[in-house]
Amino acid sequence: MADGAGLTRLRAGGKFLDAEFTKDGSARAAAPFARLETLWVNTGTLCNIECRHCYIESSPTNDRLAYLTLPEFEPYLAEALAMGAREIGFTGGEPFMNADLVAMADAALEAGLSALVLTNAMRPAMRPAARSGVARLVQKHGDRLRLRVSLDHHTAAKHDAERGEGSFAVALAGLKGFAADGAALSVAGRTVWGENEAQARAGYAALFSSHNLPIDACDPQRLVLFPEMDEAADTPEITTQCWTILKKDPRELMCATSRMLIKRKGAAPSVVACTLIVDDPQFELGATLGEAARAVKLNHPHCSRFCVLGGASCSA
Ligand code: SF4
Ligand code: SF4
Repeated sequence: MADGAGLTRLRAGGKFLDAEFTKDGSARAAAPFARLETLWVNTGTLCNIECRHCYIESSPTNDRLAYLTLPEFEPYLAEALAMGAREIGFTGGEPFMNADLVAMADAALEAGLSALVLTNAMRPAMRPAARSGVARLVQKHGDRLRLRVSLDHHTAAKHDAERGEGSFAVALAGLKGFAADGAALSVAGRTVWGENEAQARAGYAALFSSHNLPIDACDPQRLVLFPEMDEAADTPEITTQCWTILKKDPRELMCATSRMLIKRKGAAPSVVACTLIVDDPQFELGATLGEAARAVKLNHPHCSRFCVLGGASCSA
């Protein structure tokens, strides 16, 4: 994620500068490493489209995070298994642009884990090799493979405003293709449209019904509605006192139970705390999952805005 203007401004104002202490000298909160449930894998930042809101600034030219390969993934899979992980999540960029995506998912499934692939279901996912690869994985592993397709809104106009003219129709066709192959599907939508949750779910329900898509829009696991990520907004720092005040348990944060594997262009793979922060060295925790199995100081606005105050989570 880019070190955007919001973070620069907050740091210029004295916030999120010191890993140990907040601006007013209070002890900064940390998330303990409780256990590894999900290992996220960033397959690379290249994407076939360039969305206005993309938090990691993916595009057809952004290869800041390079394609991870199966041989690079395998030692981390073994480590994740030994640590008791249950799930491997693949995100990007568009994961289906990585030629090893199906093989990596297969390796995770063969090892007995679940695999979740976040995809826009557009042309890279619909190429014959990707499509037949998914069908093969569904045959072998059933619903331990899950695909989560991004549909920003249940209408073409709003989805296309974020993702480009015509992208809704292409994504919908991809969703139907995956459904025809028997894949376990969920949809990721957004909540920025001035609708309440009930209205949004009703809109998606009508869409799914009219296209015979087997997705229950009332089930928050099948239709995941993400809050807006306003990176420019001010947000308070989180101190150790906040857990009591907010009645929150730091072990519920994503970074208490997951890590993400990345490969920076020209570098060896490394492990970061979570899917939300990839460009801040404080959150790059080591070359192995073992090295990365330690507490994370919440020294970034995203920790406050999205996780502690917003309740964000990437996992299903
Ligand atoms: S499809 Fe996803 S990864 Fe690609 S640009 Fe859009 S939000 Fe980013
Ligand atoms: S942004 Fe990442 S490091 Fe910060 S609290 Fe959320 S999951 Fe943890």
